[in-house]
This record gives sequence, structure tokens and C-alpha cells, in this order.
Amino acid sequence: MSKSVLIVGGGTAGWICAAYMAQMLACDLPGGVSITVVESDEIGILGVGEGTFPIIRRTLERIGLDETDLIRGADATFKQGIRFQGWKDNPNPENEDWYFHPFQVGSQHTDMDLLPYWLLGVAGDIPWATVNTVQERVVDAKLAPKLITHPNYAAPLNYAYHFDAVKLAEVVRHRAMELGVKRVIDTVDDVRLDEQGAIASVQGRASGTMTADLYIDCTGFRARLIGQALGSEFTSYRDQLFCNRAVAIRVPYDLPDAPIPSCTYSTAQENGWIWDIGLQSRRGLGYVYSSDHCSDDAALETLQRYIGPAARDLPHRLLSFEAGFRKVQWRKNCVAMGLSSGFIEPLEATGISFVEIAVLILCNLFPWSGDYERSAEQFNMHMTTRYNHVVDFIKLHYCLSERTDTDFWHDNRAPSSISDKLKGKLEQWRYRPPSFLDVDTSHDIFDENSWQYILYGMGFKTDISARAGALRYYDGARQEFENIRQQSANAMTAVPSHRALVSEVVANG
Ligand code: FAD
Repeated sequence: MSKSVLIVGGGTAGWICAAYMAQMLACDLPGGVSITVVESDEIGILGVGEGTFPIIRRTLERIGLDETDLIRGADATFKQGIRFQGWKDNPNPENEDWYFHPFQVGSQHTDMDLLPYWLLGVAGDIPWATVNTVQERVVDAKLAPKLITHPNYAAPLNYAYHFDAVKLAEVVRHRAMELGVKRVIDTVDDVRLDEQGAIASVQGRASGTMTADLYIDCTGFRARLIGQALGSEFTSYRDQLFCNRAVAIRVPYDLPDAPIPSCTYSTAQENGWIWDIGLQSRRGLGYVYSSDHCSDDAALETLQRYIGPAARDLPHRLLSFEAGFRKVQWRKNCVAMGLSSGFIEPLEATGISFVEIAVLILCNLFPWSGDYERSAEQFNMHMTTRYNHVVDFIKLHYCLSERTDTDFWHDNRAPSSISDKLKGKLEQWRYRPPSFLDVDTSHDIFDENSWQYILYGMGFKTDISARAGALRYYDGARQEFENIRQQSANAMTAVPSHRALVSEVVANG
């Protein structure tokens, strides 16, 4: 008999989950899984979450969403990485402090590992992300990662997207419904449990009793099923990651054809950092800060100062969150996804990636035979490991800073705020760079390339002088750095401006 899934919540998490499951679990076939999404028209979606990581391309492609429909429907633009400004040292107008986290994994024209040569100074004092890929120069010039002629989701340069979160949910919803997902607009008022503590039914205010074989909680921070009904506890990581508030403002462009950056700008502030994202029609900005270190009014002032006169008279939104997650995200017949399962913080844009990973794992562990317990155990293990690794990766950005201008930055270096695992890695990386040995390819969103970009972007020193005499390709490395520099020059003339590409996609597909 075919299985049924009831997803409660229709934000980014609910609709990505619905569309992905519909495709992977054959919602359209008689033996496939039937999927219903219940979403409340009284409780809105969070509506932030404008930045993504490249795995989003694989997810959207699997769902069968046309890239042109995404760009047109979700005000979307291309994101090639993150430019971090002011993270390393105290603010100094004389000395701009920035580094880039590109999505490109670096030179792929040779088997030679260039990092040891860079660490030994073969490229002089040019930053790692600058010598290792062409992407930083392309992004600095506000250029696109691809040509209009490149197929859906493919490009010479790795990329993700920026988009309007509300519009994205609508675009994905449309696709999910094409795939056969049913939509019910209703508010779930009650969740009934059976004697074993599993969900027996949910009660819709208008629809009455709804039942399914598996329930998915996508109700956002409310966690109506997994938290309120099933009591799965939330584990806070606020002792490591202090930011718990954001104030956000949307700023229209001065000119309709204003250049659009193809990266997120992340600019450190006294008590957190500001995201600055360019969509087609506007910028999205937000100051992420710690309420223990900064008042809401002071945060708003900081954001308005960053934006300048354009911020005058624009409305703002305050958002609260807490870094952490539920260690039991799948309990009995209920799986949490999206904000109901956890949230670390907006830095590096991992929120939607966790949804993508969770639904991928769920499809692989779908309890066809009714063995919920074993599937749940594996799911919880995979997701907990992933969350823990991301906590460390995010903390890396903060704990390596040498800023001394506020308690926020001092506190971020306190050993008690850094996990033992991260401390152990940092110790090892004093004498060898992060490698594949430090990541778990089946558990990590961020591979060794990302760890290297942040570590060396932040000015960390790895002393490999003991190895210097055991490296044989100094001339080859020098040549490869030069090749990448020349490829950058070629790329700069080959790809269009980011604005031009987006306008072309919108106009002509
Ligand atoms: P929501 O958007 O809150 O949706 C909840 C849904 O549940 C809604 O449809 C609501 O109507 C429904 N609902 C709730 N209760 C009921 C009920 N009782 N009955 C019926 N329906 C109900 N992620 C990124 O990937 N990149 C980013 O750059 C990023 N930036 C962020 C910045 C901030 C400040 C914050 C707080 C988060 C950010 N995130 C980011 C996370 C991202 O916003 C979320 O992962 C994403 O929006 C998914 O949200 P959701 O669908 O889980 O919840």
C-alpha cells in the first residue's frame, strides 16, 4: 500500500522538502508516496534566507525546476562566494581588511597541490584565494560565473544564488504541485499522540483530523510537532556562537541597471556582522548581532550608518534566533526540517543547505518497511554530526579575529567558547594545512577548501618549513600561479557583467 507524508509548514523548508520528496519518492506513481503540505495563512513564513551554498543547484535540478524560472520568479541572482570585510583586525581606514571565500575549489589544471608552495611563500604575499582561483577577480569586477549559452545549472565557475525567500517558496511550491503534491491552507491547532508517543493525527482548524504515515515538521521556530507536541529538546550553542538577533532592511537600487555584486558582502561590526546581498530589484541587508553585547536600537543605528542616506524612512525588521539544534530531529513518526530542527546563524548561509541535506538523507532512509526507529537513529546521527561541524566552521570566523575593539570580539576568543574539537584542529593546523583528513565527505557541508579559505583569509599561519626540502615542484607551482593569473585575465573578457547575464536570462531565458 502506498505511503503518505504530511508536511506541516510551507516556508522554504516545507516546499523544498515536498518537491524533493515528490521527485525522489515518485509522488506521481501509484506505488509512490502521497505528499500533502498544510500551511497556515495566518502564520507567515520567516521570509529571510536570501543566500545559499552551491549544493542548492543539485537540489533544484533534481526537483526539475528550470533555472530560468528560478531567476525570473524569485528575483534571483548568482552568488560566487562571500567577501569578508573587517573581520581580521580593528577597523582602520588606512588599511582595508578583507578576504574572499570563493566557491571555486581552486586550480584544477594540475595534480599539483599548490597550498604547500603558497605557504612557503612561492606566490609572495598574495592571498590564497587570489592566487588559487580566477573567481575572486571575476567577482571583484562584478562579473557573472557563466555565459547565457551555458546550460541550466552548469558553468565554468562554481556558484549558488541569492534570492527573495518568499518568492522562492512560491516558485518551488508551483513545481511541487506540478509533481503532484497536494496543498491545504489551514492552521494546525492540535497534535494528538498515540499510546507509544507517536503522532496519531494533527487537527486542522478548518480541515479537522489529518493523518499520515510520516509527519514532517516544517513549522519554523515554532516547532509545533517536534518541539511542542513531541518534546524533543533544543540544545543551545549560544556559549560558542553569541549572535542571536538580526535587524534587516531592504534597499531599492538607485538605478534600475545598477551593477549587482555576485557575492555576499559580510562586514564585521563592533558586535557582529552585516550581510549585504544584491538581488535584481533591491539589496537585502541585515546586521546579525549579540543582544548580550548590543541593544536593538544601537544595532539598527549601525545598520543605518552602513547603508547611508538610502536607509532613511525604510522600514526594518527585527528577528530573534538562537544558535543550536535538536539532537533528536526524527522522533517516532515525525521528522523536523528547517528552522524547527535547528539554526546556527546566517554566516555562510547554511540554513537552506541543512534542509537540502535533511531531505536527501530522509529519502534514502525512508521507512518503507515501517522501521522508523532504525531510520531515525541514523538520521539523527548524520544530522547531529553535520550541525556540530558547521558550529565549528562558523566559530572559526570569529575566534581567529584579532579585533580588540569590543567585548564581543574578546569573548569570541575565550577558550571556553571554542569546542575541544576545533581547538585540537587549530593546534594541528599550526604544522599542517587542513586536508581531506579533517572533513567527513558524508557529513560536511564545507570541505577542506572552505576551511583553508577561511583559515588563511583570517591570517592564520601554518609552519611547514620542515617540509620545504621535500617538495619538488617549486618551478611548476610558480608557473601554475602565473597560469591562474592569466586565466583570470581571459575570464574577465569572456564573461558578461552579472547584471547583463541576469537581465538576459529574464528577457530571453
Ligand atoms: P518558516 O519560513 O518560518 O516557515 C514556517 C511555515 O510553517 C510557514 O508556512 C507557516 O505558515 C507554517 N506554520 C507554522 N505553524 C503552523 C501551524 N500551526 N499550522 C500550519 N502551518 C504552520 N538560511 C540560508 O540558507 N541562508 C541565509 O542567508 C539565511 N539567512 C537567515 C537570516 C536570519 C536572520 C535568520 C533568522 C535565518 C536565516 N536563514 C538563512 C535560515 C532560513 O531563513 C530558513 O532556513 C528558511 O527560511 C526555512 O525556514 P522554515 O521553512 O523552516 O520556516
